[in-house]
Amino acid sequence: MNLPPITLTGHAQKEAWRNRVLPPVERLATEVWSIPVPFPDNPMRYTLSYLLLGDGDAVLIDPGWDSDVGIEHLAAGVRQAGLGLPDLTGIVATHYHSDHLGMAARLRTATGAWVALGDREVRRLTAGEDPDVVLNNDLEELTLWGVPADRLPEAALDHAHFTHLQNLADPDLRLTDGSLVPAKGLDLRVVMTPGHSPGHICLVDEPHGLIFSGDHVLPRISPHIALEVPGPENPLADYYHSLDLIGFEDEMEICPAHEYRFRGMQRRVAQLIHHNRERSAEVLRVLEAHRPESVWDIARHLTWSRGWESLQAFSLRLAVSETASHVVYLRSQGHAIDVPVTEPRTAMSQ
Ligand SMILES: [Zn+2]
Repeated sequence: MNLPPITLTGHAQKEAWRNRVLPPVERLATEVWSIPVPFPDNPMRYTLSYLLLGDGDAVLIDPGWDSDVGIEHLAAGVRQAGLGLPDLTGIVATHYHSDHLGMAARLRTATGAWVALGDREVRRLTAGEDPDVVLNNDLEELTLWGVPADRLPEAALDHAHFTHLQNLADPDLRLTDGSLVPAKGLDLRVVMTPGHSPGHICLVDEPHGLIFSGDHVLPRISPHIALEVPGPENPLADYYHSLDLIGFEDEMEICPAHEYRFRGMQRRVAQLIHHNRERSAEVLRVLEAHRPESVWDIARHLTWSRGWESLQAFSLRLAVSETASHVVYLRSQGHAIDVPVTEPRTAMSQ
């Protein structure tokens, strides 16, 4: 394939990644700052939050995981840009996951800034939901996928997850595909990129030549694409479609929410498509060779970077839900796969 190569632009970030330390706060353009926020007890280690200064408006993209140390880092970064936290006027999360939207509720209380999500993004849980019903449905689904009873407590949502998800910020604003983030002096265009989450968005800053890619496109890891029930019917098909949408902006610098900045969107998109196609092909080989009877049975025959046996606790859930997304995708491509997966109910809480 004759695509321009991927070139690293976040040199200090890559260096920090290798040395397992937090990258520095960086000024990417006169009015654009990169502020790493710690993501405690997680191999990703940090979320790259971005501060954009407009004409009296100051917008933060992906404030990161909610913690005391996180808000300290964020406040220090904002100070380096010459502002204080109370100067923030808007917060945009690329998606609802806790390492992106997590700190938004606390920041909104502290600053009065509005919080925005893409208009197709869902909050996994909202205030009115009954934890017993939600947790029971989750257990039923995992059981249907073949997760053995003794591993269910690791993979299933528990009350702590439930409360955590329920307490994430409800958005004040919903951003539609192609619209501009409503902030004076900023030119930030919304591109709807579902896949990693049902309503993930990327933000394109044409004047500065930057794409804020959230978790849609990362330089090193392939974003997790999970079947969630309830949730979109075919998240992997959504992801492929979203990669097509963003794949043309090759001269732009990509500012992801994790790892480090780079150029070479087309090639990275090609790699991500290839990676997922390979994974689907591996699922087909497992089906042929082992005649598995469940999603769990497929998953345990797939290759995992640190081995199937190393997958524990929530990573077990991620592995099984990723496998389920391939099963649903392959079925949509005409492969007859006889393992039980509930049709996802799309009616998720908005
Ligand atoms: Zn993330």
